[in-house]
Amino acid sequence: MMGQERSEEKSECVSLSPMREAVPAPPECERVCVFGTGDLGRSLGLRLLQAGYGVVFGSRRPHSSSLLLHGAQVLGHAAAAQSALLIFIAVQREHYDFLVPLANQLKGKVLVDVSNNLRKNQYPEANAEYLQSLVPGAEVVKGFNTLSAWSLQNGPSDANRQVYICGDSVEAKQVVMAVATKLGLSALDQGSLSVARELEDFPLQLFPQWRLPLRIAIGLSAAFFFYLLIRDIIYAYATQGEDISFRIMVSLANQVCPIVSLIMLSLCYLPGVLASFLQLYRGTKYRRFPNWLDSWMLCRKQLGLLSLGFAFLHVLYTLILPIRYYLMFWVTEHTVSLIRENKTTTFDTTTAWRGDSYLSLGILGFGLYVLLGITSLPSVSNVLSWREFSFVQSKLGHLTLLLCTAHTYLYGWNRFLSSSIYKWYTPPGYMLCLVLPSVVLLLKLLLITPCVDRTITRIRQGWERGADQRNPKDSQPLIP
Ligand code: NAP
Repeated sequence: MMGQERSEEKSECVSLSPMREAVPAPPECERVCVFGTGDLGRSLGLRLLQAGYGVVFGSRRPHSSSLLLHGAQVLGHAAAAQSALLIFIAVQREHYDFLVPLANQLKGKVLVDVSNNLRKNQYPEANAEYLQSLVPGAEVVKGFNTLSAWSLQNGPSDANRQVYICGDSVEAKQVVMAVATKLGLSALDQGSLSVARELEDFPLQLFPQWRLPLRIAIGLSAAFFFYLLIRDIIYAYATQGEDISFRIMVSLANQVCPIVSLIMLSLCYLPGVLASFLQLYRGTKYRRFPNWLDSWMLCRKQLGLLSLGFAFLHVLYTLILPIRYYLMFWVTEHTVSLIRENKTTTFDTTTAWRGDSYLSLGILGFGLYVLLGITSLPSVSNVLSWREFSFVQSKLGHLTLLLCTAHTYLYGWNRFLSSSIYKWYTPPGYMLCLVLPSVVLLLKLLLITPCVDRTITRIRQGWERGADQRNPKDSQPLIP
């Protein structure tokens, strides 16, 4: 019946006149009903009015309603339901039973369930499925629940533009999606009403993909902070009785940040390398990766962004070094002592080369780091072709890792030869943090050697090792 009506439409707009009612509404003032005059109902009503719809509110107390939206009508639920095909149910799920006596008026209507819950699995079934069971004659569509009343009120200028829609009736979903489009939102069809629970869980998510990267970042920061505290501060106090605890604030922080940043950048590229070796070992790409590798690969973007954050802190800490009291004091003291002892120092070209190269590689590495961060933003990555995106994220990403690793190697230079740096037989933090990036870069180097690269490329194009010699029975078609 709905399809029939839609085919009769003369205008480009979706007609929202009730399917079983003979109340034709001209397209320019299509009517939409909103049950509930609370926060979301009012914001939705306002946005609908701004988009040119006629809005009828269904309320328990239509006469005493405090709703003051200019141009909207407020009626009782039954009367309001009869005035439009599309009804937004902007009422908490706990009160849905008021809809049962309205079953007749709601028959054939499209009901949009916008409700959310306070926690996951609060009810045995999704709110939208519950609504459908209460009003079986209506077509329930889940949607708009990921928008807040506030963002709706903000109008089209708000960046939050996506609405997820699901429902069992294709026509009903089209009606809802047409309204969403007219409101300046982009509607994404997620499938049948069985997906409703997933959509209801969306607003309850708490950084699901950031949890593992955040834990890694906090764990690494804490581990290296205590390691460096013992090696540098406590060691100086225990062996020389020297109190250099003031170094915790800048020197220690400026060691922890680059260390964590470099390890996290390596962790960002390690799963890709491991996945390639796994495919090489298995000789096929048609076997699933283990779950841990899958989850690891899924959080690479977050690992990379956190690593960029730590690199940024390292840059800030480095930039403030010249204004540190400790450094200014040390430079003055050193100069004065040279003058007092009438000593001169000679310019060491090697040290100058080393210092400049170290700084230059750091700057280049950080520049590429920022580029990687920018291209991971959806607004930027959406305009890149797949090849452009993979060039930046993979090729330039590995180059960033190489530059930052080289920056750290130059920082150490030949100091690893001096036994005095192994305080309490422990290596400095920057040496420890070089292990993982060096391993990742070596493995990547192996992967890009022509013979290995050729095999990997063939596997990714669908070639399987041993497929030619397999029992011909195996390759028989399933359906003869
Ligand atoms: P609200 O401010 O509490 O408003 C709910 C409205 O429901 C009330 O104003 C009332 O309107 C009506 N109502 C209350 N008790 C009722 C009953 N026993 N029988 C019939 N109607 C009743 O809630 P809200 O924030 O607008 O949220 C409404 C729905 O939208 C909820 O399911 C919520 O999960 C969902 N949602 C809200 C937001 C948000 O940002 N607020 C975002 C996404 C989804 P009348 O007095 O006019 O009858």
